[in-house]
Amino acid sequence: MIVSGVNGYELQRIIDGINKHYQTSMVFYDMVTYSVKLRNRTKQVVRVVPRARFALRLQDSADPFHKRSGKRRSRTRCVCWHGMALFMMRLFRAHPNAKLKTSLLRYSDLDDFLAKFKSTGKGKGEVRYDELCDCRQGTQEFVWAVVQELFVVG
Ligand SMILES: [Zn+2]
Repeated sequence: MIVSGVNGYELQRIIDGINKHYQTSMVFYDMVTYSVKLRNRTKQVVRVVPRARFALRLQDSADPFHKRSGKRRSRTRCVCWHGMALFMMRLFRAHPNAKLKTSLLRYSDLDDFLAKFKSTGKGKGEVRYDELCDCRQGTQEFVWAVVQELFVVG
């Protein structure tokens, strides 16, 4: 994903909070940070916006928000749909002016995110993205409950 308007330090604080509250091990993967100069009509720089491109991973695939994949549904270090939802919600709550672009959609603010993100759980064809994990099962049930609540409360 690509996040605009939030620096690397602020992004780190978001995953630190998630790791603490959900006893998981989210990390940034392949992160590239840069800045974009916004110019006016006379080419003067009016604002410099931090931008970061990265993926989310877990340090341990046994931790909450792991994604499962393949025919055997093996556990991976990729972050599941619910973990992504949580990260994005916390991003927009802490930084209302942030912009977010994923491979699927662009989000301009929290309301835009809440309006669009849920539909991405349906996935493509027979695969539901919001079922490629263990959030609704066993010890992970609390994770699912909290994420559900966040969606409802908005
Ligand atoms: Zn999940």
